[in-house]
Amino acid sequence: MTARILVVDDVPANVRLLEVRLLAEYFEVLTATSGPEAIEICEHDKVDVVLLDVMMPDMDGFEVCRILKGDPATEHIPVIMITALDQVSDRVRGLEAGADDFLTKPVNDLQLMTRVRSLVRLKTLTDELRLRAATTRDIGIEELLGSRHPNDDQIPKVLLIDEKEESARSIVQMLAGGADLDVAADPHAAVFQAAEGAYECVIVTTEFETFDPLRLCSQLRSIDRTRSLPIILIAGEGEDARIIRSLELGVNDYLVRPVDAHELLARLRTQVRRKRYNDHLRTSVTETIEMAVTDALTGLHNRRYLDSHLKTLFDRAVARRRPLSVMMTDLDRFKSINDTFGHDGGDDVLREFAARLRKNVRGIDLACRFGGEEFVVVMPDTDAAIAKMVAERIRAEIERTPFTVGADGRAVNVTISIGVSSLRHGPDRIEDLMKRADVALYEAKSNGRNRVVARAA
Ligand SMILES: [Mg+2]
Repeated sequence: MTARILVVDDVPANVRLLEVRLLAEYFEVLTATSGPEAIEICEHDKVDVVLLDVMMPDMDGFEVCRILKGDPATEHIPVIMITALDQVSDRVRGLEAGADDFLTKPVNDLQLMTRVRSLVRLKTLTDELRLRAATTRDIGIEELLGSRHPNDDQIPKVLLIDEKEESARSIVQMLAGGADLDVAADPHAAVFQAAEGAYECVIVTTEFETFDPLRLCSQLRSIDRTRSLPIILIAGEGEDARIIRSLELGVNDYLVRPVDAHELLARLRTQVRRKRYNDHLRTSVTETIEMAVTDALTGLHNRRYLDSHLKTLFDRAVARRRPLSVMMTDLDRFKSINDTFGHDGGDDVLREFAARLRKNVRGIDLACRFGGEEFVVVMPDTDAAIAKMVAERIRAEIERTPFTVGADGRAVNVTISIGVSSLRHGPDRIEDLMKRADVALYEAKSNGRNRVVARAA
């Protein structure tokens, strides 16, 4: 895993020290000796993780962190603060400034690498989501996220998994008011509870008599629904090996007993904030993809989706030597509907037609608005005879019941013409199949409309 790490410290010797160690692990390293310089680099270069000294003249690390986290262009870059003293108050202050993690000077090698690697991994995921969200919508990421930012004030729903009543009780007290907390004592049931509930973070303690808490963490990581759920481990002193192993397994953060309530709350907030940010990105990506393949007016799939999905259905039919038919349909004299009732009236007809079409095809059929008043239905496992029957049923259903148009609900008679084609195994390519449906539709039109023409071969 290669990544670009920015090391920020006002003492050049300290910068050099971290730089050498990171270079030895094949990270790319950028350096800065002041806050403003660090911010400048984050704004203009690709930075994956910032290692930030807290004590710096003029602008200290807290301030730098606050500025980075307050700017949509840099807020997703993970920041590890480096403090001189292992002071809980410093850690809490840093987490409140938005820091993602902490290291204490002198920096322990193993901790440095585990923390950096774990944050680089998370950053990679966030980058991927940001890229997909931005490119699919073809706008800047700041614009996309700026309009609907996740709500950071809402109290997070958290699951605590702890076998020992006394230990659980003290954590419940610490999080009172800061989290909507459920407690699970049985580790087996807890995995299911984590998957079923809408939790935003899971806290696991190492206080188990007979059960390995790391197994629990690895189970949570292996289930789809909990894969991206943040996990905070609460460990005892002297459990370093276990902590390192847990971070390797994908645990997001840890605290060592005795736990400070402020630090626990601040770390929880950091995890939840990051999860909400990534969930928000993921939702944007999904919505964007849906938008990209759906026709906004009718809710049917659009032509772009047809182009990509038809190939899948076609290849599958060919490989399994199964029948496949295509129905191409066009609303008759649609121009006169538009002329009489305006474009809104025309839209009403298109919407109602799409709804009736959807009702008359199966779930496995692919129904799309091909463009204008033209629609295509791809029917897997359907031979020419059945396809023609289905087409005839739809044609009759459209003719039988008048459409309702406009605010005053005027009834309008609508008819359609349909061309049907079916796959010929051997010579057919997708273009041939589509071409025959198109020719059949043309024939239906020129033979007087309101009819079905099938061209099997
Ligand atoms: Mg310093």
